[in-house]
Amino acid sequence: MLRPPLPPRPPAFRHARPLLAALLIASQVLWPLQGHAQVQTLPGLSDGAEMTATAERQLGDRIARELYRDPDYVDDPVLADYVQDIWQRLLAAARTRGELTPELDERYAWQVMIGRDRTVNAFALPGGYLGLHTGLIAITETRDELASVLGHELTHVTQRHISRMLTQQSRQAPLLLAAMILGGLAAAKSRSGGDLGMAAMVGGQAMAMQKQLDFSRDMEREADRIGFGVMTQAGFSPRGAAAMFEKLQYASRLNDNGSYPYLRSHPLTGERLTEMEARFQFRTEAVAPLAPQMEHAMIAARARVLSRPGADLLRQWLQAVDSSEFARARPAQQAGMLYAAARSAVELRDLKAARALAARLAARVQGDAPAERLARLLQAEVELDAGNGPAAAALLDPKAHPKDRAELVLAAQAAVAARQPDGVAALLRDWVALHPRDATAWRTLSAVYGAQGETLRAIRADAEANVAVLDYVAARDRFRAAQDWVRQAGPGTRVDHYEASIIDTRAREVEARAKEQLADKDKPLQ
Ligand SMILES: [Zn+2]
Repeated sequence: MLRPPLPPRPPAFRHARPLLAALLIASQVLWPLQGHAQVQTLPGLSDGAEMTATAERQLGDRIARELYRDPDYVDDPVLADYVQDIWQRLLAAARTRGELTPELDERYAWQVMIGRDRTVNAFALPGGYLGLHTGLIAITETRDELASVLGHELTHVTQRHISRMLTQQSRQAPLLLAAMILGGLAAAKSRSGGDLGMAAMVGGQAMAMQKQLDFSRDMEREADRIGFGVMTQAGFSPRGAAAMFEKLQYASRLNDNGSYPYLRSHPLTGERLTEMEARFQFRTEAVAPLAPQMEHAMIAARARVLSRPGADLLRQWLQAVDSSEFARARPAQQAGMLYAAARSAVELRDLKAARALAARLAARVQGDAPAERLARLLQAEVELDAGNGPAAAALLDPKAHPKDRAELVLAAQAAVAARQPDGVAALLRDWVALHPRDATAWRTLSAVYGAQGETLRAIRADAEANVAVLDYVAARDRFRAAQDWVRQAGPGTRVDHYEASIIDTRAREVEARAKEQLADKDKPLQ
């Protein structure tokens, strides 16, 4: 588990998820309003009538800023690395196929945000942001299944479905957007729980949306068709898409819409299924499933435990590894069960059991390099949780894996815990130079500087972390704090004047953006 080096934000920001729900409901209200005439022009609608990419990105940034503050937004480097690998492959394939134009590539964020939530859901947001619940990762059995969902959502963005929908409501859009934001806040105050509270509040609108949902079928069909092309082009197996459809179909037969919000926005009409089967050129039920993958089973297990399943389930997962079911399970399933058990033990604060299970897992996955990596990272996490920084550091070698973000972040946490921060500072500095929007890396770097006694650098890195999550007001305050520190530095304090001049420059840039942000706050977006 990632332990943020700084205290968590106050829980007053719990409104982000209802805001998101509001947006999703609004988007579903809007789609049906298009009417048939417009739907027919779908494939070629690029006559300049769309909301501009820049405006859409601005709207996306506003929503993303709220999401970053949501306590359920989680940047778990292990999970994020895995999703990011799939996501980058899909983006590359979309570029090759010409679905992702250079203009959109540059203007949009192309960022997947993971939400700690048991429900099965994924959604596209304006400006190239994508929401993905841990609950969806948890039910997938292969990376190809996950890729099929991400490919579908990616296509909603590349095909400009959101901007088309917003554009066609352009007269009402500013009002609607304002209503969405206000609605999200209201729901946060009175919500009885997630989507349900939101649906109750939106009331009539939500009802109307449910009835007319099938009007958006053309866009869904397009996302299915192109998304399938993108995922297969990226090297993922079409059988992954078939298996995902199978799962969703099974859930819809059980009428399990409560824990499958994805089904509400993506009802599996027979027609949609038939089309997909024609595309696969086989019947989904006749397809041999993909062999389970060890690495994926471990990632899904991690997502399961991250989804806050409750103590009863954690205890059940902890005990499952001593059952006859475990003895009968296939190697990949065993790896997943051991991983879930070890993480459950950590959650239940039984670190002795966690350590033993992580060691058992490491032995079980020997010979499978990606699984070995995950087992090793898990062992390091367990040592970190046990407060044993040096043992965690001994398991990690970020110099040997310069592109491995999870390895680097964990190694930095271990270095701080072991009070030997010097080795990782330069590595992290190189990382944020390449990835300036990586807030977790900035916060980790801030902790490393703090451990080195580099107060000024620590404050600046923390300021940059706030810039990375688009919170310019908070960033401005941190830069001001850094400037104050320089002014108040006594004669005995060494001041890095090079650092101080960088801070002055950055403070001016961020000051301007903070002003814009404060002015924007109540202004509806056009
Ligand atoms: Zn869709």
